[in-house]
Amino acid sequence: MSLPPFSKITDNITMIHLSGLDSNIYVVGKDTIVDTGTGFNFVRLYDLFKRMGADFDSIKTIINTHMHFDHVGGNKFFENAKVLAHELDAPHMEKGNPENTCASFFGGEMKPMSVDQKLKEGDLINGLKVIHTPGHTKGSICLYDEKNKILLSGDTIFADGVGRTDLPGGSEDDLEKSLERLATMDIAKILPGHGEPIMKDGKKQLEKIYENVSDIH
Ligand SMILES: [Zn+2]
Ligand SMILES: [Zn+2]
Repeated sequence: MSLPPFSKITDNITMIHLSGLDSNIYVVGKDTIVDTGTGFNFVRLYDLFKRMGADFDSIKTIINTHMHFDHVGGNKFFENAKVLAHELDAPHMEKGNPENTCASFFGGEMKPMSVDQKLKEGDLINGLKVIHTPGHTKGSICLYDEKNKILLSGDTIFADGVGRTDLPGGSEDDLEKSLERLATMDIAKILPGHGEPIMKDGKKQLEKIYENVSDIH
């Protein structure tokens, strides 16, 4: 099943799908965006924003779920926005490290970018709580909307499994611990960094994914 270019998940969250290369992009409320894709498809993103009745200039906060280029490459187009990322991934973004950010892997150029706020476990940003979930990268985070039981999971969990751990800073052990922790949380919907969202029974799905992973390792 192919994903629509954009779809409303809740009154407050819209999911944008640009291409197979780009991360999913989530617009939360009027002024917050979670991940920005590679930036390769800027014109398409601009056009979708118009169709959604949204505005690039009104985005004040970018939260990056981790440092990978397919999630942070589009940050530069939101000129009025502050960039927020976990303190362990932020230094690689600030250095513009092409290996650790996987920019080389995606054939993109990673210019050093300033990270205005370094996130830590438990920070609350516009109703989204930062859950530090290392494994895919050291500074990978999930964002939890506790009121609506929604987890934005970055590349930690997808509808059909987990993120890869063979890239710089990845760790299977860390990922397993992160999943163990997520499996205890009350989650209805999971909005992953790639592919289709899980729209119900998020907790059950997560437990299943965790069981599969802990079986293998
Ligand atoms: Zn990704
Ligand atoms: Zn990634």
